[in-house]
Amino acid sequence: LLSAYAERIAIANVEWGMMLVLRDVTKDKELDLKQAEFVSIVSHELRTPLSSIMGFTELLMKRSLDEPRQKKYLETIYSETVRLSELIHDILEIQKGEDLTQGATKKTIDLKKLLIEMKTMFELASSEHTVRMAFGSGAHLLMASEEKMKQLFTNLIMNAIKYSPNGGNIEIRTEVTAQDVRIEVEDEGIGIPDKALPFIFDKFYRADNSDTRKIGGTGLGLAICKMIVMDHGGSISVQSEVGVGSRFIVEFPIHPMS
Ligand code: ADP
Repeated sequence: LLSAYAERIAIANVEWGMMLVLRDVTKDKELDLKQAEFVSIVSHELRTPLSSIMGFTELLMKRSLDEPRQKKYLETIYSETVRLSELIHDILEIQKGEDLTQGATKKTIDLKKLLIEMKTMFELASSEHTVRMAFGSGAHLLMASEEKMKQLFTNLIMNAIKYSPNGGNIEIRTEVTAQDVRIEVEDEGIGIPDKALPFIFDKFYRADNSDTRKIGGTGLGLAICKMIVMDHGGSISVQSEVGVGSRFIVEFPIHPMS
C-alpha cells in the first residue's frame, strides 16, 4: 500500500490515538493519463485536416490559379472538411459513451428483428456487396439500448463494406445459447495484419497498411463499438487474415426471458 501511488495519506490525531487513511490512487492516475493522452491525440487529429483546409484556402485566395487546379484544391478542402466533421461526430460519440450511466437507456430488445430492419440500409449502402443474414434458433432477446445496438452493427457492417473495396459477401451469423447471444460479422475484404490486431479497438488506431491509408476513417469506430459492448456486459473480438477477410465476434449475455 505504501507504494509510490499511495500518496494521499491523511493522518488524524485524536485524543485517544491516531488514524491512518490510505487511498490507492493508481486508478485516478491512469484516468488522468488517459484523459491527457486523449486530449493530445484529439488536438493533433483535428489540427491535421484544419491545417490542410487553411493552407489550400490561402493558396486559392492569394494566387490566380487555372481552373483544374482550383477544382483540385476545392476538392481537397471539401474532403478534409468531411473528415473533420466525421472526427467531431466520433469524438462526441466517445465522450457521450464515457458519460453513459450503466443501464440508463436499456430495455428488452429483439436483436434479430433489429438486424432484419437494418438490412435494407446496408444493401442500399453498397451495390457491390451482398449482405447475408443467418439466424440461429431461439429468441434473440437482450437488455440493451436500441440506439447503441444500431450504432454497433452499423459500425461493424459499414467497416466490412469499406474494407472490402473489391466487393464480396458480408455475412452476419447469430447463435443463441443458454447463456448468450453470439453475433459474427464476416467479410471477404483486405484483412488486418497480425501485428495490428491487438490495437484495432484502441482510440484513433488505424492499421498501417497502404490499403487502409487510401480508405478514409477516424480510427474511432471500433473504439466506440468496444465501449458499447462493454457497457452491455458483452465482449468483442476479431479474427482476420490479410487478403482473405475479417470476422468480428460480439457476445452478449442473454435476457432471462429468452
Ligand atoms: P476507421 O475505419 O475509421 O479507421 P475503426 O476504429 O473502425 O476506424 O477501425 C480501426 C482500424 O481497424 C481500421 O483503420 C482498419 O485498419 C481496421 N479494420 C476495421 N474493420 C476492418 C475490416 N472489416 N477489415 C479490415 N480492416 C478493418
